Amino acid sequence: MTARLLDGQKLSVQLQAEIRPAVAAFTARVGQPPGLAIVLVGNDPASEVYVRNKVRSGQDVGFRVDLERLPATVTLTEVLDTVARLNADDRYDGILVQSPLPAALGRGAEQRVFDAIAVGKDVDGFSPESVGLLVQNRAAIAAGTPSGVIELLEREGIPIAGRHAVVIGRSDIVGKPMALLLLHRHATVTICHSKSVDLPALCRQADILVAAVGRAGLVTPDFVKPGATVIDVGINRVTDRAEAERVLGTGHPRFKVFEEKGSVLVGDVHPSVAEVAGALTPVPGGVGPLTIAMLMRNTLAAAGARHPA
Ligand code: NAD
Repeated sequence: MTARLLDGQKLSVQLQAEIRPAVAAFTARVGQPPGLAIVLVGNDPASEVYVRNKVRSGQDVGFRVDLERLPATVTLTEVLDTVARLNADDRYDGILVQSPLPAALGRGAEQRVFDAIAVGKDVDGFSPESVGLLVQNRAAIAAGTPSGVIELLEREGIPIAGRHAVVIGRSDIVGKPMALLLLHRHATVTICHSKSVDLPALCRQADILVAAVGRAGLVTPDFVKPGATVIDVGINRVTDRAEAERVLGTGHPRFKVFEEKGSVLVGDVHPSVAEVAGALTPVPGGVGPLTIAMLMRNTLAAAGARHPA
């Protein structure tokens, strides 16, 4: 069997096209466009790329998008002051603080910053109140990456209710909200993590397997029940040749990218899984683009809630 590829890039373009007219209607009705404020502290290269894509996508659908750059030397108090100012600013319907924050801000800084974002403007869905609403299945907004996975499954006609979903990873931004969103759609959900015993056997039970670990090529064919849907959330930069060979094999087209650039992005799922799975998201071009599209949808939803018709 060769898995059907689930094209997240194509769906993200479609989602953006769906959002655009709703943004135009909002702007005409309210007299200002939905506003998104993005806070970037320091200049982590990966964060720079993510933020650039978020600014571009927001502007593309017709939002006002303002980027607040703070130097890596900023204090936690200054970051919290920035969030407080954005909370009070009526031009912004959504606030996003790009993760990770510089380590120098100290342990727990990220949590304190997420805690400070007004729940109505929390378009990442990371604040404790947003998470509580998600647990109770009352959330209007949930984290972008797992929301994007649900959107993809539903639009691809992959049934969730009654199916066994296994999520590898229990982070606050992917694994846990992913498990909750699947549960709310009536899947039987197993959450696996770094201490799970016999991971391949647990994963082989899955009709829907979601890998959100951050370990290149961890999921091999022995993890996968024939015909299962496999969602690869992982984004891992491989810079070691032996690792690139292990994960891709020298014949893989992405291996050429490694040879040209000295690094390549790969998922948590080994490409050989395509021989066993029924459907599979590629990396890149799978879950990644959907995360940004769902952020746009969350911002529009937050704007609509702040300015009801
Ligand atoms: P994280 O490091 O916060 O969490 C990783 C989880 O994996 C942990 O819960 C841990 O228990 C589990 N884990 C680690 N090693 C394991 C092992 N050997 N077996 C089983 N479980 C193990 O990471 P995260 O923020 O959830 O991100 C996970 C991956 O998803 C990363 O590659 C990240 O880059 C990617 N990601 C992608 C997007 C996107 O838009 N596609 C968004 C967020 C994160």
